[in-house]
Amino acid sequence: MEAFADLQPSALWAHFARLCALPRGAGQESAAIDAIDAWAQDRGFSTERDPAGNLLVTTPGTKGAPIALQAHVDMVCVPEQSFPLPIPVVKRDDWLHASSSTLGADNGIGVAIAMAAAETLGHDHPLDLLFTVGEEVGLIGAMNCTITGLRAKRLINLDAEEPGSVTVACAGGGEESLTLTLDRMPPHRAPGGDLTLQLSVSGLQGGHSGLDIARSGANAIQILAQALWRLRDHVAYGLASVRGGSADNVIPNEAEAVLVFGAADDRDFAAALEQIKAQVAQRYGALEPNIQWCVESTATPSTIMRTQCRDRLLNLILATPHGPQARFPQQPTDIATSANLAIVRTEGDLATVLISSRAASTQALFDLRERVRALAVLAGPNASFRSTDPYPGWDGAWDAPLVNAAIAAWNEAGYPEATRQRIHAGLECGALSARFPDVEMISVGPRILGAHTTSEKVSITSVQEFWRFLLSLLATLRTG
Ligand SMILES: [Zn+2]
Repeated sequence: MEAFADLQPSALWAHFARLCALPRGAGQESAAIDAIDAWAQDRGFSTERDPAGNLLVTTPGTKGAPIALQAHVDMVCVPEQSFPLPIPVVKRDDWLHASSSTLGADNGIGVAIAMAAAETLGHDHPLDLLFTVGEEVGLIGAMNCTITGLRAKRLINLDAEEPGSVTVACAGGGEESLTLTLDRMPPHRAPGGDLTLQLSVSGLQGGHSGLDIARSGANAIQILAQALWRLRDHVAYGLASVRGGSADNVIPNEAEAVLVFGAADDRDFAAALEQIKAQVAQRYGALEPNIQWCVESTATPSTIMRTQCRDRLLNLILATPHGPQARFPQQPTDIATSANLAIVRTEGDLATVLISSRAASTQALFDLRERVRALAVLAGPNASFRSTDPYPGWDGAWDAPLVNAAIAAWNEAGYPEATRQRIHAGLECGALSARFPDVEMISVGPRILGAHTTSEKVSITSVQEFWRFLLSLLATLRTG
């Protein structure tokens, strides 16, 4: 493919070009895994596969301690319908991107780097290449990894997207849900007629529930619940429904409720809402400059919640934790524990509140879960609590020898300001460190922008810098 002509190191780019011709959506990686397996056997490397679909390639070198290089083979395919294969790769300035789809540099570049490293060094230096599947759909390969032949006690995950940075820890997490059975009745008829209005709040920043939670912006569900609570003091309204949020890993940026009240209270409603809007603007003005409120008439529902039930639901939402819950004492800018009040839905006689929580330590996650469970108990016999199996976090040492060696290698590769970081999101290192507890890990990678979107692109220069970084790091680890 023309985009790859003259790119260095050529073996690395040739592997990436070949991957671009194979299907790699999560769950469809088998042809790509087969191709890597065949490549490994051609070169005299050993291979092992597990039932989850992961592949381990071990090289025969004997000089120095074994080191593992790890990357995920799967990618996010956008657009999902008629995803192009081979991916038409285009070169523009320093960037490779796909003409109209995701590129799959996340994490195809990592796979290609590991393969090129094995060809360059593997006959000399014992390398374990661990290729995983299903990363993009819940770290499935890493979570279910039963590979037995890993020799290395140090693992370099190649799935980071920022050169000059060494990730040393990630968050674990899970989901908690609270359900409340709703006590409903038909709306009472006011003598002067009723109004049914849909009140919505939107235009908030939202963002990723892990990476953006530190921004401490507003949550649309919380703002709506506060407004509904305060409205009680001004208007005797019935609440028919509440809904807000879109996905567990997204901070809600919109929420809406349907209210029924006597037409005579229309002015009181409007005045109270103006007051509430002003309070919200004052509280969140700088953080959330684009909050929009909208009131529209809508069809009268057949039932509303009884007053006590309405208040119980509002109290439950108001008491649900959202935002950063704890920071690392040594690095107070880094979030250690957080909750995202992600979704609220009322459907028929059931209200559901979904929380997605993240924590660097499993104990902190369980502590947070206890608080959410306690809310269900306080909300009474009509409320219940459920939680998913948590996925593990990874709490690598800030100053581990592997981390220090990686910082020095970045310095040498042209990044004198190289930094270490913890990320408040899930990484395969979390699942893998639960499976291989005595293996020290880092996560590093070249520059990729716009992953998971059709603007995904990888910097050619940064791949070359990364290659220099990796060779220098492996040389250090081999002798150190
Ligand atoms: Zn990735």
